[in-house]
Amino acid sequence: MSTTNTFAPISSSFNENRIGLPRKSKITVVGAGAFGGWTSLYLLRNGFDVTLVDAWGPGNSRSSSGDETRVIRSTYGANEFYFKSNVRALQLWKENEQLWGKQLFFNTGVLWFCYQKDNPWVDDSIPFSKKYKMEYEYLSCDDMARRYPAVNLEDLHHAWLDPHGGYLKARESCQAVNQAFIHEGGKFIQAYAKPVVAGGKVESVVLSSGEKIFSDAYLFACGAWLGQLFPEILGNKIICTKQEVYYFGAPVEKAKNFDDLPAWIDLDGSDYYYGIPGNAHRGFKIGVDKRGEIFDPTYGERVYNPETLSKARKFISHRFPGLKDAPLLESRVCPYENSTDGNFIFEKHPHAQNAWILGGGSGHGFKHGPALGELVAQVFI
Ligand SMILES: Cc1cc2nc3c(=O)[nH]c(=O)nc-3n(C[C@H](O)[C@H](O)[C@H](O)COP(=O)(O)OP(=O)(O)OC[C@H]3O[C@@H](n4cnc5c(N)ncnc54)[C@H](O)[C@@H]3O)c2cc1C
Repeated sequence: MSTTNTFAPISSSFNENRIGLPRKSKITVVGAGAFGGWTSLYLLRNGFDVTLVDAWGPGNSRSSSGDETRVIRSTYGANEFYFKSNVRALQLWKENEQLWGKQLFFNTGVLWFCYQKDNPWVDDSIPFSKKYKMEYEYLSCDDMARRYPAVNLEDLHHAWLDPHGGYLKARESCQAVNQAFIHEGGKFIQAYAKPVVAGGKVESVVLSSGEKIFSDAYLFACGAWLGQLFPEILGNKIICTKQEVYYFGAPVEKAKNFDDLPAWIDLDGSDYYYGIPGNAHRGFKIGVDKRGEIFDPTYGERVYNPETLSKARKFISHRFPGLKDAPLLESRVCPYENSTDGNFIFEKHPHAQNAWILGGGSGHGFKHGPALGELVAQVFI
């Protein structure tokens, strides 16, 4: 969940340079997270012969997509590209979950806790919310007190409710996308992949099994690993940070009341806490969007920092006083794959004319998976 970056439009990467590969061309995608998984599926649906490779499997515990849930919301300040992408993504999430008979999107709404009268991150999205018929609802503190008595309002000016948003089941979605990919004719291999760049192109990828895969084109959607896989071109462009989320146990007699709250985002301007109360029945989830320390996504130990937990605990006792003594049920460390400006990256490898890089989810990419996959697949046609 990220609200701390500013975003420049990235739409130009998608409009320039259509790749124009003939249908049935062989494409290897490395990385079966939200970005690579959905893109593989849409490449396949557009008639390509797609092989998808992932070292630890779709939605694995090391990946960014591997947590239980992710927030889906349209709000992106004045950035219409991401707003519109979310509108399309929401449509595709709904279409695909219906196709698969599996609920992945939970329309709980998203509440924005605002401290001042003006909050450009939300306010600047309001014209888009009207344009795309995804309108938000202004809630005064009186409205909030009536509707959400569990929320402490003493330092808030008002809230905005985005009734169209909510949360997605994350790792389960990656697995569902992968199952659909295989069912629709794609080939999935679990292995670590290394590109062999020679003569101005990727000649093959070598798998940890020893097998070599040769393709017409390659797409590397390796999340937080992109900087390590291509150190000379992405070492400084994709920075992996350690991000923590905690699942707390609501009191026995109020568990359902807490579960039924919308997802929420606190615009405190410092730690940027956010949460998913329902969280697929895993406990009241709270995340810290402030960037953590530099992290190794393969070998880093997934243990929370006691100071970060203690601050988060203090915050939930303040914002949701009923959770003051809530026990910690689970914690999770997930990597952010931060690009330099928070924008997604979709670029051709500068020294390999048949290879593309897709990543830089930067704490906000998950929800966009299907829309991004559809868009990237269009570029290959
Ligand atoms: C704590 C946290 C909270 C977040 N909250 C939200 C939110 O609320 N809403 C939202 O929309 N987004 C959110 N995000 C961001 C979102 O989860 C990511 O942007 C998104 O999951 C990135 O997907 P990806 O496919 O690029 O990366 P990943 O999911 O990390 O996938 C990359 C895959 O590549 C594989 N791989 C890497 N290298 C290799 C290799 N050499 N060979 C084979 N396989 C390889 C890995 O195993 C992995 O499965 C959050 C992220 C975190 C960490």
